[in-house]
Amino acid sequence: MSRPILPGATIGVLGSGQLGRMLALAARRMGYRVHTFSPGEDTPMGQVADREAVGDYNDLDAVAEFAARVDVVTFEFENVPFDAARTACERVPVRPRGQVLHTAQHRQREKDFLAGAGFPTAPFEHVPDRAALDVAIARVGTPAVLKTAGFGYDGKGQAVIRDADEAEAAWQSIGAGEAVLEGFVDFEREISVVAARGCDGEFAHYGVVENRHRDHILDVSIPDPDIDKRIVAEVVEIAHAVLDALDVVGVLCVEFFLKHDGSLVVNELAPRPHNSGHFSFDACVTSQFEQQLRAVCALPLGSTRRLRPCAMVNLLGDLWDDGTLDWQAALGDPELKLHLYGKAEARPGRKMGHMTVFGDDGEDAARRALAARDALTARTQ
Ligand code: AMP
Repeated sequence: MSRPILPGATIGVLGSGQLGRMLALAARRMGYRVHTFSPGEDTPMGQVADREAVGDYNDLDAVAEFAARVDVVTFEFENVPFDAARTACERVPVRPRGQVLHTAQHRQREKDFLAGAGFPTAPFEHVPDRAALDVAIARVGTPAVLKTAGFGYDGKGQAVIRDADEAEAAWQSIGAGEAVLEGFVDFEREISVVAARGCDGEFAHYGVVENRHRDHILDVSIPDPDIDKRIVAEVVEIAHAVLDALDVVGVLCVEFFLKHDGSLVVNELAPRPHNSGHFSFDACVTSQFEQQLRAVCALPLGSTRRLRPCAMVNLLGDLWDDGTLDWQAALGDPELKLHLYGKAEARPGRKMGHMTVFGDDGEDAARRALAARDALTARTQ
């Protein structure tokens, strides 16, 4: 049994974005102190943390000094260098363990883990260099998707190859570095499950969420879509097995493609709270952020029960294009919860906030959420 880390203790977070911000809000509500470490200043998490330590993740002395002042370290995005997690764990527990980060932050390692453990994946080939790409295309076939092996997110570092003669252009467009080639999956929908695992192996999940993307970036999430119970059971079973196999302590999201024939393909893993679980902040007994806190502090996991049908829409920087947004109009829907992450600069594709909207059912909530988002810019158009 791990010793519980009780309220009053200090949670250290590597990373300082919106996921850390929402974790910090949950932690402070329960009487914890929170420290963040990242290269940024006045960050989304730093704004609500007790301490914002500014440093480079590769400065291991700075990471060690940070870890020495907290009771447990977790992370809020997976591109923290593995060595930073390793350094921190010489001083305090790091949860999930650094090995989870190591696997999930590199597409080839992640795919090798998934396929090796028998989880369903799209066909894939490792592409260490340009010559390997031609071989990979011959094996995987077209259409295919070329993805950088590391540090990709939200469709960045990806190129679709429809025909072998597009190989060179695709290779250049992802930066001509180590990559993975995946078979293109003709899916019916994209779904995910956010799940948590405690120090003693306790498991909890937030059910299936349907995710609708725009330009490869999550746009709308609707929990509990109308899909076959058998598929729901299979998704949850896979998620449970993934968390067990990786010995995760914390929250992890498994993203899937649901194919037209009802079969599932695991797209990727995110070893932290996930955008598709943001609805839980307002709509569940225990949010994914409180759940992460409970798991990493060796506390019992909370109920994931959803209180009302709802949907979540992202607010990307593109919306800020025309200047001021009409918050009054969006907040005119009294069943809406607005989250803004405190980012000073709105850039296209940048996640600035989200809204969770309640409704009679998921689709009704999604309609209301989209209407509220449209209302933000209606007067400026
Ligand atoms: P990722 O960053 O890998 O999650 O990819 C971002 C988005 O690109 C996914 O949510 C899908 O919409 C699309 N995508 C990625 N990989 C594939 C694939 N192998 N086949 C079809 N669409 C894909």
